[in-house]
Amino acid sequence: MIKCFKKSLSKKISVKTFLWVLLILSAFNLVIYFGVTRIFLSKDRYNTEQSTEVVREFLSKETSLSQEKLLDLLNQYGASGSLIENADKKYILDRQGGIDELIFDNQEVSVFNKDKQLVLTTDKVLSTMKIGKVGETVMYRSPAFTGFYQSEKIYSKDSRKVIGYVTVYQSIASYFMARHTFVVITLLCELVEACVIFYLVLAVSHRTLRPLREFQTFVDKLAESPSELALRSDIQSGDEIEDLSQNFDSVLEQIEGFAKRQTRFVSDVSHELRTPIAVIKGHLGLLQRWGKDDPEVLCESLDAAYHEADRMSIMVNDMLDMIRVQGSFDLHKGEVTDLKQSIDVVLGNFRILYPDFRFSLVSTVEDCIYAEIYKHHFEQAILILIDNGVKYSSGSKNIHVTLDVLGDNAIVKVRDEGEGISQDDLNHIFERFYRTDKSRNRVSTQGGLGIGLAILKQIVDAYELKVSVSSVVDEGTEFTLIIPLVTTEKIKKTD
Ligand code: ADP
Repeated sequence: MIKCFKKSLSKKISVKTFLWVLLILSAFNLVIYFGVTRIFLSKDRYNTEQSTEVVREFLSKETSLSQEKLLDLLNQYGASGSLIENADKKYILDRQGGIDELIFDNQEVSVFNKDKQLVLTTDKVLSTMKIGKVGETVMYRSPAFTGFYQSEKIYSKDSRKVIGYVTVYQSIASYFMARHTFVVITLLCELVEACVIFYLVLAVSHRTLRPLREFQTFVDKLAESPSELALRSDIQSGDEIEDLSQNFDSVLEQIEGFAKRQTRFVSDVSHELRTPIAVIKGHLGLLQRWGKDDPEVLCESLDAAYHEADRMSIMVNDMLDMIRVQGSFDLHKGEVTDLKQSIDVVLGNFRILYPDFRFSLVSTVEDCIYAEIYKHHFEQAILILIDNGVKYSSGSKNIHVTLDVLGDNAIVKVRDEGEGISQDDLNHIFERFYRTDKSRNRVSTQGGLGIGLAILKQIVDAYELKVSVSSVVDEGTEFTLIIPLVTTEKIKKTD
């Protein structure tokens, strides 16, 4: 199933990157723009000041300023020093003269006599014919001219008197041009850069997110057939997606295990219940046909039906125990139990129930020892082991329990001198509903239904204990439980 998303992750990432890049580039460019324009402007201002100084120096050789004198002076220095032939504009100096040596191309210079009357100017449109504030470089804006201008007094070197004024105008049209070009180029570059980055990020993220798409396809497949719990995503991208896939697969594995156990449990239960139900049904049929009139059949069938009903009742109770134990682990996390006291309690009960048995407790432990296990779960584990000892002790009636401490662990052993378990059976006794042949062939319900040790295994797994068993057929069986102890600071006694 191919899904169409309004916005795919790679598109989202690309668009966001595009916007961020645009923003960051704009911020940088703005800084560069202000920096560069400042430099340009200060260069123009500096040029204005320089040219004013140069012209002032050049004219300071004179004692007074008149047009003829100035033209002479220019001619003297090899410049053409001629006026543009135009009666109306009689002050305009031909730029091709020596004055070009003194000022820049984008500058105009006007020279005034000491009475502030214009003597000569390079400005053809006569737009700059004024003396500004002397000694100051000022920005000037008019329709005809925008730029800096600076006016200075001209002192005669001989008389040290003011002989006139000079004003230099520096047009900043080239500055505007440069600024305009800069802005256009910067904006274009910025846009192109951002677009290139957009497509680059789109391509890279599309490639990088391929494992995520694979995972998405896998989840879709699972959603289509949720019963196929054996499916695994198994993505190996070496990044967080692989981690996600591994976690997802491990959850699937657990669910699969859980589902399998559930199915097996239901099938085990139905299988176990089928036999007693069939037996009861068979005997009821017998009763219907002949039992009413034959007291022998009646008695035998009633006995058998009672026996099977008894088995069913034990089985249902055992199963309930099992379900209860499974569901109660989380409720009692962190609780601690005095092991010695609990063993004493269980043994006390057995002594009352089975007075013909001898239950001994040998312990090297003087004080209380505590383990992080819910009291009832520990007692149930001990009860299962002692109960099995009782059930499977044919001749001898001795049950030995020992409690020791080895390092950080308590070691509890339950030993009987009963029928023992064969090596083959030892591999299976912790499986649910497993019974050895001997036990299965028993006619009485005392043999059990193969649930006790499965419950013990649940407890062992839940509290991370260890259990082992050694047995010799016809000599006896010994179960060993290893339980990690807790330090006294952690102790919080259970009720
Ligand atoms: P049951 O309720 O049948 O006793 P368990 O799960 O406790 O179920 O035990 C499984 C099987 O292991 C028993 O049927 C029995 O054959 C064997 N078993 C367990 N404990 C002992 C023991 N102490 N001595 C001999 N056999 C045992």
